[in-house]
Amino acid sequence: MINEERIIAEFTELVAVPCPSKDERMEADIIYRKLQELGMNPQIDEVAAQVGSSVGNVWGILKGNLENVPAVFFEAHMDSVAPTTGTTVIRKNGILYSDGTTTLGGDDKAGIVAIFEALRVIKENNIPHGDIQVCFTVAEEIGCLGAKFLDKNLIKADIGYSLDGGGKPGLVFNAAPRLVELEVKVIGKSAHAGIEPEKGINSIMLAAQALAAIPQYGRLDEETTLNVGKINGGLAPNIVAEETSFVIDMRCPKNEKLDQLIEATKQVLTTAVEQGGGVIEINVVENCPAIYIDKNSKVVEVVLEASNKLGLNTGLQGTGGCSDANFFNGHGLPMVVLATGMEKVHTTEEFLEEEDLFDLTKLVVEIIKTAATK
Ligand SMILES: [Zn+2]
Repeated sequence: MINEERIIAEFTELVAVPCPSKDERMEADIIYRKLQELGMNPQIDEVAAQVGSSVGNVWGILKGNLENVPAVFFEAHMDSVAPTTGTTVIRKNGILYSDGTTTLGGDDKAGIVAIFEALRVIKENNIPHGDIQVCFTVAEEIGCLGAKFLDKNLIKADIGYSLDGGGKPGLVFNAAPRLVELEVKVIGKSAHAGIEPEKGINSIMLAAQALAAIPQYGRLDEETTLNVGKINGGLAPNIVAEETSFVIDMRCPKNEKLDQLIEATKQVLTTAVEQGGGVIEINVVENCPAIYIDKNSKVVEVVLEASNKLGLNTGLQGTGGCSDANFFNGHGLPMVVLATGMEKVHTTEEFLEEEDLFDLTKLVVEIIKTAATK
């Protein structure tokens, strides 16, 4: 049902356009036109000003011909990592490569192409479906800025799929950590180190005591990590150091568990610093919301049923990274990440097996069909 040559042609067309993060304008124009051709009422949102990009996220919606079925959402990001000056695709033994001077751009054009071909298949074959919404984001590779700043009121769907994971199609990522940073400042009192050190309070020593009081660091358990990644303090060897700051990175897919860890860590640090006569300031920065989707939820049920029907090697997995899907979940849309088959991403050796691209497209079609039965 899918048109393999059309998929390869569209992939070649999309990766030929330069699209570094924050300068996705040319790519967005092509995508906008394709959505228009599909009758999907394209819209470019307002994130460009906040992101500092040449264009916003591109949205489209294909109205359903069925009622009372879940509205399905697909997303992929438009930007690619450098060098992405426009890729020349080399086809060899069923595998797509760049010519070695750029990344292939399969991250994430594989996702975009699979979504477009699936939409065409649905329309050409008059397959019954609910509403299908799509969004193609900017600046994913530099902190998921397009997804982060988008207006969540634009989301009109019940279940979501991000086509941006590593591994073979069929693999589904239903957990990814929430990521917070604790920016900690320890304030002591400066004094001359040789003449009157007793008048000072040494913030470096207090910070050391506070850090030593943290009971565990690195991998705390299979889903939780804590890392002290940065420290800075003191002015000169002959001055009792007045100020020392450090940053702790903490990750866990379970919100409440991470909240507890944050509180416990703040407590330990505060006690140690105050016992030494210092003052502590702790700023909690929320960097990325979690993906934590139950395996019995509808979004998972639909994709597993779809991929089993296709005979794909299906599996559920967690990931330690942060991608657009984290932010969509933060905006309230349950979204899992689908593996696209892309390999060696972020290098000029990136490649993509044609068969994986075809499987991914079939999976999107099958997700739409399966959702229509729910
Ligand atoms: Zn990606």
